[in-house]
Amino acid sequence: NAITNSILFQEQDNNNLPIILRSNENPYGPSPLALKAISNNIKLTNRYNWDIAPELIAELAKKNSVEENNILLGAGSTEILDLVAKYIAAEKSNYVIADPSYDYWTKTMDNLGVHKIKVALTADKKIDLSKMFDSINQDTKLIYICNPNNPTGTICERDQLVTLIKKTPRNVTILVDEAYLEYTKEKTLTELIKSIPNLIIVKTFSKIHGLAGARIGYAVADSSLLDTLRNLQSNTNNSVSVLSKLAAIASIKDDKFINDCYVLNENVRKFTITELTNLNIKCIPSGTNFLYFSLLNYPKDYFGNLEKNKIQGTRIYEEDGKWTRITIGTLDEMRRFVAALK
Ligand code: PLP
Repeated sequence: NAITNSILFQEQDNNNLPIILRSNENPYGPSPLALKAISNNIKLTNRYNWDIAPELIAELAKKNSVEENNILLGAGSTEILDLVAKYIAAEKSNYVIADPSYDYWTKTMDNLGVHKIKVALTADKKIDLSKMFDSINQDTKLIYICNPNNPTGTICERDQLVTLIKKTPRNVTILVDEAYLEYTKEKTLTELIKSIPNLIIVKTFSKIHGLAGARIGYAVADSSLLDTLRNLQSNTNNSVSVLSKLAAIASIKDDKFINDCYVLNENVRKFTITELTNLNIKCIPSGTNFLYFSLLNYPKDYFGNLEKNKIQGTRIYEEDGKWTRITIGTLDEMRRFVAALK
């Protein structure tokens, strides 16, 4: 199709390509080192190459200052989320989640009969950590905190989050999703897994690393908690393809690429916020590569305008305030997005 052809054969006619601002992917990625790792090793794909997983796990352990048995690989963080869902669903129970938050993965739990306790955000669209904690009851097996939160882009206050993690009963699994953490200046919470055996941190290469299509993510947690998840994953650590693992190993080492993407995203996000604010559109301050904003003051047909201009956005999350989300693309893409709105 048109997209694949133009990427493969570098025949880019930017004005004709759709602008994909739907799923918070990195418009600049993958890192050149990751691309080189993929193309240099393409011939390795006739073998399982079991030894590559331990190499990547060693790198990830080093990066997160944990031991190798504290890491579990998945085909995207979605596979890890799915393992947690299966683990939780074994008993009659419930789970606590902010609303709205990232909940595509929770359909496994919903379909397996785990009750969902939705907790409204604060007025400024942050996760209400004290209400989340107060919602835990005797049947709660899981509390999920997406930090920064998708779709709102808001960041939890670190001290408050750590307090919640420490006081959550040990029989409740705490799942902290750090998919977008590299777009902030916040430090990962992985060091806490040494003292909190019921904490799972889930991470992905799909966002700032620009490897969404390679499907690679991982969990960081206490080794015995991870053993429980390993027992639910038939192909432990090897559901990820060899090329994706090699790309991840290369990408971890490319600090320059990650930093460049961080800076580009910050600048383009500022541009987008300024332009939307000039259109009287209310935006929530974001620590991520996406923006949450309200269409209440937008008098035109937002989705019609996106469609006419071949721009892929996403849905309305909260009907009352007509809140929606847009991914921060390149400066050129966001200029075209703003022009489409105008
Ligand atoms: N977690 C969050 C918060 C996300 O926004 C996404 C994808 O958009 C995922 C997890 C899943 O990503 P992947 O399975 O590509 O790692």
